[in-house]
Amino acid sequence: MANPPVRGKDDKRRERADQASTPAPERKKGGGKTRPAESGVAPKSPGKKIIDKSDTKKKGRKRTSGKSPNKDIIPKSRKRSPIRIGGRTIPPGTKSEIHLKVSEHYTAQKVDIPVTVIRGRRAGPRLFLTAAVHGDEVNGVQIIREVIDQIEAETIRGTIIAAPVVNRFGFVSHSRYMPDRRDLNRVFPGDPKGNTSQRYAHNVFKHIINPCDYGIDLHTAGYQRHNLPQVRGDMSNDEVRRLAKAFGAEVILDKRGAKGTLRQVATDHGVPTIIYEAGETFRFQRDVISQGVTGILNVMRELNMLAGEPVRPRYQVITKTSAWVRTDHGGLMETFVQAGSVVHKGELIGIITNPFGQERGQILAPFTGIVVGVTLLPMVNPGAPICHMVKLKKTLRTVREHVVPESVPIEGEVPFPGFTPTRAPGEPEEEEIEG
Ligand SMILES: [Zn+2]
Repeated sequence: MANPPVRGKDDKRRERADQASTPAPERKKGGGKTRPAESGVAPKSPGKKIIDKSDTKKKGRKRTSGKSPNKDIIPKSRKRSPIRIGGRTIPPGTKSEIHLKVSEHYTAQKVDIPVTVIRGRRAGPRLFLTAAVHGDEVNGVQIIREVIDQIEAETIRGTIIAAPVVNRFGFVSHSRYMPDRRDLNRVFPGDPKGNTSQRYAHNVFKHIINPCDYGIDLHTAGYQRHNLPQVRGDMSNDEVRRLAKAFGAEVILDKRGAKGTLRQVATDHGVPTIIYEAGETFRFQRDVISQGVTGILNVMRELNMLAGEPVRPRYQVITKTSAWVRTDHGGLMETFVQAGSVVHKGELIGIITNPFGQERGQILAPFTGIVVGVTLLPMVNPGAPICHMVKLKKTLRTVREHVVPESVPIEGEVPFPGFTPTRAPGEPEEEEIEG
């Protein structure tokens, strides 16, 4: 297949264009969910794509994108648009470290956040990477640092705009939140005349999110919880679906983000964005960091920003159905599952005891599925979430084949390990159950 076109081969001409004083034109928002004509992405050869057979069978799913007419064409408006961040113009073929001012302390000093921009010599999409939007979620900080350490402007197409510490206030104060006690991830796209968090979000959105074509936002589970590495996104958007599958997490939760979340607002503004949810707060966890780095490089390969084949997962399940299992009793809990466990309906998940050691209740799996999140705190009140489960039905056999070392046969099902997988590793299967 022919190489994707580049934005002109004459570097000098590009540099001149970059030095032009006119800033990048603001995008029209218009409430449109996509801006396919601006994606500026060269398609991969069909052979490299992960094929989702279930795509062809989907009923009633409304796609909000996928009309990208010809992704080889980089529109004129983008061909020469300079990349300017924090008052600096980023020339092609450079890696720049920028302190982007987003707010001010009450000591009247500026609050800036570190942004690394890696602009390849060759043209291509712009991808943002963000982490620590919740200031206590630091796995993503390390993921971004490792990615930008591995990426060189000489080897990529397009541009990476990476902000490893988005919520600097929360990051330095060991808090999920902003100083006005708001959740930064509920106030995007922000408002330049709004409250403290809204103004902060506006600056992040304007300088980091809006100039990009795609995005990956990195999170962990909430405080005292652990998440199986997973991707979440609004899979009704074809470009989000493309990124989510390419990232290569084994579990994809197909969900619209809540109002004001970076990923949903970005997607709705025409910047298809996924989130990677993995691990715990306040920790650098090697396994989830490595998977995150691999996932980002996979997405870059899918977008033709980076050469090479994506690393495929053991299996991949796309599902809309997940639920928190809660306890009805207060007490001390012992759990028998962990993130990644496959549990069957009625199976014992945990036991609640009182301080004398007497059993107060058992927590049983309400359905069959895989545990994608667990609480780490043994002290529980009635209603406390114990574990987050994804329901598996159609995909159960595949998941169990890969996850359970010596799968126990279930009544009425094909016994294991006699089951022969019919799918190639990593080929997505989609759950169709809802609710
Ligand atoms: Zn988060």
